[in-house]
Amino acid sequence: MKRIVLFATMILLMLQAYAQDQKMDSFISDLMKKMTVEEKIGQLNLTTAGGFVTGTAGNDKLLEKLQKGQIGGMLNGFSVASMKSSQEVAVKESPNHIPILFGMDVIHGYKTIFPIPLAMSCMWDMELLEKSARIAAQEATANGISWTYSPMVDIARDPRWGRIAEGSGEDPWLGSQIAKALIKGYQGNDLSLNNTMMACVKHFALYGAAEAGRDYNTVDMSRVAMYNDWFPPYKAAVEAGAGSAMTSFNVVDAVPATGNRWLLTELLRDQWGFKGFVVTDYTATNEMINHGMGDLQTVSALALRAGTDMDMVGEGFLTTLKKSLDEGKVTLADIDLACRRVLEAKYRLGLFDDPYRYLNEERAKTEVLTPANLKTARDIAARSMVLLKNDKQILPLKKSGTIAVVGPLGNSKGDMLGTWAMGGDEKTVSTIVDGIKNIGGSTVKVIYAKGSEFSDNPKLSKTTNPLGISTTQSTEKPQASAQLLKDALTTASKADVVIAVLGEPSAWSGEASSMSDIGLQKVQQELLKALVATGKPVVLVLINGRPMTLGWENENVGAILEAWAGGTETGNGVATVLFGDYNPSGKLTTTFPLSVGQIPLYYNHKNTGRPMQAENKFSSKYLDIQNEPLFPFGFGLSYTTFNYSDIKLSKTELKGEDKLSVIFTLTNTGKFAGEEVVQLYIQDPAASISRPVKELKNFKKVLLQPGEKKEIRMDVSTEDLKFFNSDLKYDWESGEFVIYVGTNSRDVKSAKVSWVK
Ligand code: BGC
Repeated sequence: MKRIVLFATMILLMLQAYAQDQKMDSFISDLMKKMTVEEKIGQLNLTTAGGFVTGTAGNDKLLEKLQKGQIGGMLNGFSVASMKSSQEVAVKESPNHIPILFGMDVIHGYKTIFPIPLAMSCMWDMELLEKSARIAAQEATANGISWTYSPMVDIARDPRWGRIAEGSGEDPWLGSQIAKALIKGYQGNDLSLNNTMMACVKHFALYGAAEAGRDYNTVDMSRVAMYNDWFPPYKAAVEAGAGSAMTSFNVVDAVPATGNRWLLTELLRDQWGFKGFVVTDYTATNEMINHGMGDLQTVSALALRAGTDMDMVGEGFLTTLKKSLDEGKVTLADIDLACRRVLEAKYRLGLFDDPYRYLNEERAKTEVLTPANLKTARDIAARSMVLLKNDKQILPLKKSGTIAVVGPLGNSKGDMLGTWAMGGDEKTVSTIVDGIKNIGGSTVKVIYAKGSEFSDNPKLSKTTNPLGISTTQSTEKPQASAQLLKDALTTASKADVVIAVLGEPSAWSGEASSMSDIGLQKVQQELLKALVATGKPVVLVLINGRPMTLGWENENVGAILEAWAGGTETGNGVATVLFGDYNPSGKLTTTFPLSVGQIPLYYNHKNTGRPMQAENKFSSKYLDIQNEPLFPFGFGLSYTTFNYSDIKLSKTELKGEDKLSVIFTLTNTGKFAGEEVVQLYIQDPAASISRPVKELKNFKKVLLQPGEKKEIRMDVSTEDLKFFNSDLKYDWESGEFVIYVGTNSRDVKSAKVSWVK
């Protein structure tokens, strides 16, 4: 009976959706009958609303273009009033009164800024990730934004690439779960509600594979690698119903993504069933000229025919498509198709019912930076942090005595927000000094010294945050390092414990922020060395946007907390963890190399024909350093300790669609209650193509009281064994499989099964 009801409900929902689609189709067909070609091309034009640009193009004659219907959408509008007046012009004065879209990079919160995405991924908590996106949508829509250029789901294996900060790390399976959670958070179940916004999965595709970690650099890889290791999160986002997708700046198989028909049409739409519209990245159409694809008219026609629908700010579409149509280089059907897809998005957002749906000037007063949102941000900040070292249990700190906060990031506000915090306001930020005062209370005395500048490299000191957020670096005059150091040591001498807050200002990660040296800058290292030499207990709190090389620090500093750029509530979050009000549970989603020379370094690599053997020169290794990273994928400590029993398997011989249960006991063997992210990996050691040494396939976050034990059961199905073979066929192959369970990708227990078709 239950099944029949379920089945009937499903059919009913499908019929309803079909009827809605029919209604939308006929509305848009009627509208398009009235539109001129010029107006249709206008819908494909995305322009900037304001001053913020990442490329060469800006914006002029906005009013005139709005009146003529030459603008389909605008990005980066910061004031509801001005967006409303633009919308009024579009709706009242343009030939067919078509409302425009308002988009923005709402990447990790709008006004309540959450930790950078890389940090949030370290929570391994899909509910909280979804909630962060939900709050971002609530706050952004209260400020007129109904389209976000998020989630960024690019897999990244190179920490030199500054944009590693914007994604979820190196794992395609975890990245896929996170992509789904974020899309659900942004879009909800009904895009037309005034507090949900359309997501845009980006950057399609392979942007994270830029050679040498240099932003915008070229990409080259096999199709097997694309399908198995790099595509899954984009595909997951499509399956989760992402309303739009953004092309990447790079080439895919030697053709720029923006003009790549195989990518945008055959794969994205025909194979994956993407129903939304495709927007270019910022001036990506124009940049195809530099890629060597021809002049502006040629590349614009190429982009349209490939399946790009909307052209971000470069105006290649606006200025050349009509000519291309007249010359037979594109067809009216090509233009119609793109126009229809853009209009569909507007329809789904409810803009044809009410173009001012998201432009309510009152909402922001009550819906933004609310105590509840800030509480969630603090919670998320604390849960995103990863404890990398805690020798002799320096942490958690007692709420007493004198604490010295030392370092250029110890009392900096803007740098806590991280990259892409466009709506963020540094006045709302808690610094580490603030946090320790707030959470430590009156029994703690906090003293602060800056200690050093970020760097003495003149190239880096010139870097200002491209997103308009001032950093300590850019607003203050550099100070003499000898005096700063002297003051820091005096401050440290008065303290019971020193919190050294070092790392990177916001401007050093994110777009166009690649680095060849990812260690602490020399002046910061010198400060840290001097602090350690005092003999006082030192805790290193890292604020940064990428994995860093921390060999010396790991050997010489008692405790290291990777706190990332934690957003508005960074300082309160850090203090919550330092004092043990929250026991850290974050686990790295990206490998921390020991040296830049090891990059790319990631846990799910292939074996070689000559795996590393210390005593064998002719094996795959470096002469001067180890192969292993400093901190592997999945790594993160807690104030308590966990013990994993050996694994029991429900069966060791499996056939066909059998299910395998992996069972083990997890015990909290320490003194604190704590959460552990238990991780399950699989290896397929003999297959038709060489497979990774390990692949994450499942995890669970388990809370245990001191002394508590829990039996954990995790299921494995044939779905987890599948991969794309040389013919790009997705299937599993009979054979032996190794199952690993553990606290990170390195420290695992294993068991073997045989699984045949
Ligand atoms: C970035 C995108 C971003 C766009 C719009 C580009 O430079 O690559 O990630 O969404 O600008 O701001």
